[in-house]
Amino acid sequence: MRNVTGARCVRCGRVYPAEPGITTCECGGILDIEYDYDYIKTKLTKDILAGRRTTSMWRYRELLPVEEGTPETPLRVGWSPLYEEPALAAKLGLRRLWVKDDGLNPTGSLKDRASAMAVAKAGETGAKVIACSSTGNAASSLAGNAAAAGLASYIFVPERAPKGKVAQLLTFGATVVSVQGDYEETFELSRQAIDRWGWYNRNAAVNPYLSEGKKTCSLEIMEQLGWQVPDYVAVSVGDGCTISGIWKGLKDLYAIGFIDHLPRLISVQAKGCCPINRAVEFEEDLRPMKEDTIADSIAVGVPRNPDKAIQAIRESGGLVANVTDQEIMDAQKLLGHSCGIFGEPAGVAAAAGVAKLCRDELLGENDSVVTIVTGNGLKDVANAIKFSGEPIRVPSDMDRLLQEFDRLDIHPER
Ligand SMILES: *Cc1c(COP(=O)(O)O)cnc(C)c1O
Ligand SMILES: [Zn+2]
Repeated sequence: MRNVTGARCVRCGRVYPAEPGITTCECGGILDIEYDYDYIKTKLTKDILAGRRTTSMWRYRELLPVEEGTPETPLRVGWSPLYEEPALAAKLGLRRLWVKDDGLNPTGSLKDRASAMAVAKAGETGAKVIACSSTGNAASSLAGNAAAAGLASYIFVPERAPKGKVAQLLTFGATVVSVQGDYEETFELSRQAIDRWGWYNRNAAVNPYLSEGKKTCSLEIMEQLGWQVPDYVAVSVGDGCTISGIWKGLKDLYAIGFIDHLPRLISVQAKGCCPINRAVEFEEDLRPMKEDTIADSIAVGVPRNPDKAIQAIRESGGLVANVTDQEIMDAQKLLGHSCGIFGEPAGVAAAAGVAKLCRDELLGENDSVVTIVTGNGLKDVANAIKFSGEPIRVPSDMDRLLQEFDRLDIHPER
């Protein structure tokens, strides 16, 4: 990989050659892929990019840690829409607001970006089997992207993973192990199994290539904005790999001169599980927390990637927001009503955080914000059903319909 110089430990600084199978540093720290930006600048310009036909994450190949001959993965991952939402911006009191709908990826979440990268790297090692533990979306995205590429997958999920997500990965043909325990215990069993059988490891906090896949989300955001930098980018945070990937993409673009400054990050967690935000807010070491939220995809009491995430939030001069389950479900409705976008609870948590920061006047009429919807609402219909209300029930009888409309003060003619 001519564009990559190595993989540096974020804790002790040791640099390793960027082999496809690397995981964490000897000291236990997480590795970060480093690039030769001077070289990349000679290969990638805004004009070259503008003329490129590829509408997937592989559009940004020069900024990705893959060998020249590595094939693009088969599913169309990335290049999700970025919608400007002036009505919602006005409602919240923001100058400008955009929603990046990453729930429209092939398996319905931003995780597809990391899984496609894992499948590409597994291919480079010659591995035929790939494995991970996940709260759900990493799993289904791995299962889907592996199936498309002809790889077998072993997936470890905690027992509380929503049924729809489990059905999705069984449909993709994965071998699914439902661990009777929390995410921490699930991760530990997957770690032992991966060691034992030598599978390619798609655990995002261990495999440094995965956040390089996730960073394509912010590369796209900036290209879609015509390289005009927003004030803030809001992300929901569990393990912390997504937000650190988003930050990495932004820093890459700054390093090659595509943007002239960096936005600030908004890290959103659930009030019932916010160990990363708590560490940032109170400038203390990370302490584990219980996993008490309906936003299952960000219910991570012992985050696996706190170092990179906390560093990213601090470095960006970012804001943190912790949102209640009710605020999350209000945001689900708000995005649905105002934008026609249906996100799962963790997927709309960032928007809930933005709404909260607006109410607290930490964001306002001078600010422009991009909020990322990280997962599709169809992933977790059970919670949507609980919070979305009831339809109007009538027999097939126009008089009864008129009666009900009357009773509910609905005026269809207006
Ligand atoms: C995984 C996930 C997140 C958070 O990503 P982390 O890397 O765990 O911080 C947010 N939203 C959804 C829908 C996810 O699946
Ligand atoms: Zn180290």
